[in-house]
Amino acid sequence: MNKISDQVFADFLTNKPLYYKIKAVEDLKVFDNTAYVDVFGFKNKPFRFLCPEEQTDQTFKTDLIESAYPRLSMLTMSNADELPYSFDAKTGRLDLKVHVQGVCQSCKAKIDFLIRSTSDKE
Ligand SMILES: [Zn+2]
Repeated sequence: MNKISDQVFADFLTNKPLYYKIKAVEDLKVFDNTAYVDVFGFKNKPFRFLCPEEQTDQTFKTDLIESAYPRLSMLTMSNADELPYSFDAKTGRLDLKVHVQGVCQSCKAKIDFLIRSTSDKE
């Protein structure tokens, strides 16, 4: 499996226009919750961005609004016969919408990203 680096993900968050697409993973063979197929894959990613509060470039880290994902602790333990929650049961394809927050590591100001993760194969 080939997965983009945290640096490439940071570039995607900070330098790409709205609706930009990026191939994040190639040859995913088994479910790996770090591979952008699960909300956990979007957590704790560092990036540099202009802090809206401090008006200077700061280091941010991604976080999730955990209340938006009920039973977060249970999500990785899905039944082996069922597709993980992030996959569409009808098409068998990944279709995950994630509300990612960037948290300024200096002043804790938050910025929001809405990311959709899909697969081109079942
Ligand atoms: Zn800040």
